[in-house]
Amino acid sequence: MNKISTLLQNLFNFFYPRLCVSCQNTLFEKETHFCLHCLQNMPLTNYHTFEENPLNYIFMGRVPVQFVGSLLFYRKGNMVQSILQEIKYKNNKELGSYLGHLYGEQLAKTELLKDVDLIIPIPLHPKKEKLRGYNQSEMIAQGLSSGLNKEYSVEFLIRKDFTETQTKKSRINRWENVKDVFEVQNEEGIRNKHLLVCDDVLTTGATMEAALSKLVTVEGVRVSVVTLAVAG
Ligand SMILES: [Zn+2]
Repeated sequence: MNKISTLLQNLFNFFYPRLCVSCQNTLFEKETHFCLHCLQNMPLTNYHTFEENPLNYIFMGRVPVQFVGSLLFYRKGNMVQSILQEIKYKNNKELGSYLGHLYGEQLAKTELLKDVDLIIPIPLHPKKEKLRGYNQSEMIAQGLSSGLNKEYSVEFLIRKDFTETQTKKSRINRWENVKDVFEVQNEEGIRNKHLLVCDDVLTTGATMEAALSKLVTVEGVRVSVVTLAVAG
């Protein structure tokens, strides 16, 4: 960078400093989204390296899943809470794809994901997506796609109904609410494929289960799941 553009950049940073998503400190030039300290202290699950991955039990007896992984532990008040808020409500699209990419690179050596054919984000209801301007799961899928070197697509799994906000509902009510909101289209395109379904956060797994249970009705489809965060 020449002197004038460096000067302009410094001036710009002075008025519009880029801040760490987690601690709000001003970022150095080479840092993106997180300061080095927060990046090194992310609450990683590392579950993909475990021989006995505890996340496998989430869908047990509900729907057969080949692999379940989450990048980070979500706890009330921890940095992951701010990450999820940024991704979902603060229009920070890049953060979703940045973390998706980071996770994709980590997962690239995971044996159970070697034969993944396609990454599929959990769709938002079209009205909600229009309101928000983007689907955060699609941003994560984009990042995973570049980190894992696999394609992603939004054309096979679609969302039909508008569901009420789920935060205060019990698990049974949630299931009643979501079990039929997803639909598979262009079925022939995913026949006999291993699909990696992604979302921002895994809580009860009800939304994910609803999507997976539709996808596995297609002949020969196997599914795996990854999310950026899991409660824990
Ligand atoms: Zn920080």
